[in-house]
Amino acid sequence: MIELDSVHKRYPAPHGSGWFDAVHPTSLHIRAGEVFGLIGHSGAGKSTLLRLINLLERPDGGTVRVGDEVLTALDAAGLRKARQHMGMVFQQFNLMANRTVAGNVAFPLEIAGWSKADIQTRVAECLEVVGLEHRAQHYPAQLSGGQKQRVGIARALAPNPKVILADEPTSALDPQTTRNVLECLESINTRFGVTIVIVTHEMRVVRTLCHRAAVMDQGHVVEIADVRDGEFRMQSPQALALLAEEA
Ligand code: ADP
Repeated sequence: MIELDSVHKRYPAPHGSGWFDAVHPTSLHIRAGEVFGLIGHSGAGKSTLLRLINLLERPDGGTVRVGDEVLTALDAAGLRKARQHMGMVFQQFNLMANRTVAGNVAFPLEIAGWSKADIQTRVAECLEVVGLEHRAQHYPAQLSGGQKQRVGIARALAPNPKVILADEPTSALDPQTTRNVLECLESINTRFGVTIVIVTHEMRVVRTLCHRAAVMDQGHVVEIADVRDGEFRMQSPQALALLAEEA
């Protein structure tokens, strides 16, 4: 579903001259229907790698393929269209404060030119999926953090994406709310077969939700592990450090 071939990204070094490699050349194959985690400490390059998948960050080299499309070969109009099949969920929710819950979920459908009637039906479906149908006419300020994130998930789901990219979606939430949000993502994966790539620094997120996970450190993927029934065997020092911190 997602093929990264030698993608890399560098930024001007923060102090002085030269460049800083946020993501060294990385190749990764994420399968259709998979929940794939990117885990590592802050600054490891997880978020940059995630944003290279939908080209929110342009790679300095390498190719990105999602489904049948080579995103790195598309022009701006082609990329806009391709992105409609890729939802994104953000740590800070990124909801529009002046729109209702229903209005937020409707937004990507308005951009994509859906009819009013289709938007209304689809918004209701998506709010039902995340369990917020009773909140449709509320505003973000009237919701808890977990509810806001479920609106963010409904918005990402609305255009029927093949892929959802989630950037630390539970980092701003307490443990109980985190569980609800992870259950919500899991149900979207199992009910609709949506491929999910999730950035996290928490092993319990990997354990709860992911089928596989890549451990990142200093712009490198240092290990990829299978997760089965909440069990995984990671051996890299970076993974062991993350596990130890949570113990
Ligand atoms: P993570 O998601 O693992 O915390 P990031 O991908 O956000 O890591 O960042 C990796 C490194 O790249 C960090 O050192 C960060 O400061 C740097 N970085 C990220 N985005 C930019 C940017 N737009 N400009 C300059 N440096 C950046």
